[in-house]
Amino acid sequence: MNRPKKTEFKFPTHIDEYPTGPQYAAGYLPETNAGWRSVRPVVDHDACVYCLRCYLLCPDGTVVKDNGKITFDMDYCKGCGVCAHECPKDAIEMVKE
Ligand code: SF4
Ligand code: SF4
Repeated sequence: MNRPKKTEFKFPTHIDEYPTGPQYAAGYLPETNAGWRSVRPVVDHDACVYCLRCYLLCPDGTVVKDNGKITFDMDYCKGCGVCAHECPKDAIEMVKE
């Protein structure tokens, strides 16, 4: 298994130090979702303002910027709901599989 190494957290002191990508690239999980996900995120594209908060905060890097629209890599999304919880516009709904 080839997991990323832990790094010491340093609070950003300048805008240039803020993250510009997801926590991890998609595929961080060692295997694709094996069917245990019970809910999945669905975006309301009319409500989404493309702030990319979900993209930055998804713990598995499964939020995808798809030609200006938010989509999800459902092979790796674990259905944790962080993206829906953190969306400032309530544009993501977690629905049953
Ligand atoms: S956090 Fe919400 S509003 Fe922002 S890009 Fe994601 S879905 Fe869109
Ligand atoms: S439900 Fe969790 S794993 Fe799936 S896209 Fe949202 S934050 Fe990422």
